This record gives sequence, C-alpha cells and structure tokens, in this order.
Amino acid sequence: MDCIFCAIANKEIPSQIVFENDNLVAFRDLNPQAPVHILVVPKMHISSMNEITSENSHITAEIFEVINKIAEKENIKDSGYRVISNCGEDGCQSVKHLHFHLIGGKKLSETLS
Ligand code: 5GP
Ligand code: ZN
Repeated sequence: MDCIFCAIANKEIPSQIVFENDNLVAFRDLNPQAPVHILVVPKMHISSMNEITSENSHITAEIFEVINKIAEKENIKDSGYRVISNCGEDGCQSVKHLHFHLIGGKKLSETLS
C-alpha cells in the first residue's frame, strides 16, 4: 500500500515531528495554513473517519488528549485553535489516512465551509 502518512509514521520519509508515542505521530503540515498547522495521525493505517470503530476508537480518544498537550506546547491553548478532519470526496480529503489538522496561532476565519 502506498500511503504517505504511513511512510511518515515509519520514518521512511522525513517530516517535522512534534510528538510521538506508540499509537500516533504529530508533525508539521508541509503547506501550513496558519502559524501553527500540525497533523495528528494514528500510526495504524485507518483510511478516514468512516473507518473508526469500537476496536480502534481508543486511538481517536488518545489523539484528542495529545492535541490538548500539543496546543499547550505550541502556546495556542489559551488563544484558541481549530481541529479539522476532512472525510471523503465532499470533505476534500486528499490523503487517505485518518488525520486531524490542528490549526492556530492566528484569528481563524468564521467560515467552516
Ligand atoms: P487533507 O486535505 O487530506 O485533509 O490534508 C492533507 C494534508 O497533508 C494537507 O494539508 C497537506 O499539506 C499535507 N501533506 C501532504 N503531503 C504531506 C507530506 O508529505 N508531508 C507533510 N508534512 N504534510 C503533507
Ligand atoms: Zn496510511
């Protein structure tokens, strides 16, 4: 399987990793949309939010715990931030490996769509 985020998680391609544990890795987006733009991904290949099940959802819970810690480390916890996961065609998901965008460090647009 040819998956860029699996390759990043396996250190087969370089990235700016900001946090890592046994289940997940967080790294800076190649094309940042804000001063802080970090992608948090499970190390296990899960293709999108559609594939979250009772067997793997503990990783999603862990991702949100880690997002909280990263926000603190990046000094955006008090000012605020946004977490986005694009899913499928209409959601404009370009990388088919579940990921959560952590975006902040500036006043974000009020528009979500
Ligand atoms: P999506 O559109 O699937 O929600 O977001 C994919 C994100 O992955 C984009 O923001 C894009 O800039 C980022 N991205 C794609 N390829 C790479 C890569 O090789 N390295 C890093 N660090 N980010 C990537
Ligand atoms: Zn993958």
